[in-house]
Amino acid sequence: MRSWAFQAGFEDRLLQSLRGDYRVLAPVRGTDGVVRLQPVRSWAELSPAGLPLIPLKKVVFPPHDVLWTLMEYEYREPAPSSVPVALVGIAPCDLYALAYLDLVFADDPHYQRRRQNLLLIGSNCRPTPECFCPPRREPPPFDLFLAADRLWVGSAWGAGLLTALQAELSSPGDLPLPAEITDGQQQVPENLEQLFTASAGLPLWREVGERCVSCGACSAVCPTCYCYEMSDEALPDGRVARRREWDNCFFRNHALVAGGQNFRPTRAERLRFRFEHKMLGFGALRGISACVGCGRCARACPVDIDISAVLAALAGGNKP
Ligand code: SF4
Ligand code: SF4
Repeated sequence: MRSWAFQAGFEDRLLQSLRGDYRVLAPVRGTDGVVRLQPVRSWAELSPAGLPLIPLKKVVFPPHDVLWTLMEYEYREPAPSSVPVALVGIAPCDLYALAYLDLVFADDPHYQRRRQNLLLIGSNCRPTPECFCPPRREPPPFDLFLAADRLWVGSAWGAGLLTALQAELSSPGDLPLPAEITDGQQQVPENLEQLFTASAGLPLWREVGERCVSCGACSAVCPTCYCYEMSDEALPDGRVARRREWDNCFFRNHALVAGGQNFRPTRAERLRFRFEHKMLGFGALRGISACVGCGRCARACPVDIDISAVLAALAGGNKP
């Protein structure tokens, strides 16, 4: 992969070069201690810990979205902003999460329109105790990636950004990304498929389920959770709007169907369902893990339910 060394201050000049043409967002820690995707003007504003509480899925798959409106025979899809968004300082796990959402929403024009307008500038992160990055076979998707004093180019779009900054680059080479990005820090248990299949009756789920308060925080902060609900709304001006809003498999009503039947009426069943589908994928994506090991769910959980501890307990046949 094409790579260059860069000089001190290069990051700020890169930001400066983006500002006229892009809406530049990066993880920034607020005075309340929460990291959010915020507009930035200098690299020093970026949070070194990297991960925004609400991940970048909100940019391509907003929590509340109007997909279309209808007025008699006039069908309209709201046009997304024509200003491209540059997401800067994005940690590898969030880039891998976006790669997963790209698969989920491969045929979704609403997602794709925003995704094609999204410039990704990744950077290496500072892992937290809750992270458990799994090893990777492929590098994550990005246009540029900065680590220490080197940058990597991941697309023609990224290469084009460097034209005006070429004088600041040196030591070109075809280099892989730093090993810590692709090697991961922790192996997840093998034979997860069998472990989950055999775990239906384990007390583990009942006990973790008794602690869970079904708040849904773990799912809201998860960079790969994508459950949504659709509704139609009659607007005061006579139009009908089709809305798409984030939903949550921890909510009891998520699996409620006509006739009052519920596929997963208990919290224990919903926990097992979520963890299984995070680790083993879902539907056509079965076999591709949807967990990038970012640790957000463990940090957000008010009762300290930690997916890596649950997996370890499952692998060991023990309680967490
Ligand atoms: S399940 Fe938890 S650790 Fe895995 S990607 Fe989602 S928030 Fe991150
Ligand atoms: S954050 Fe914790 S308590 Fe809330 S739904 Fe998730 S596992 Fe349950």
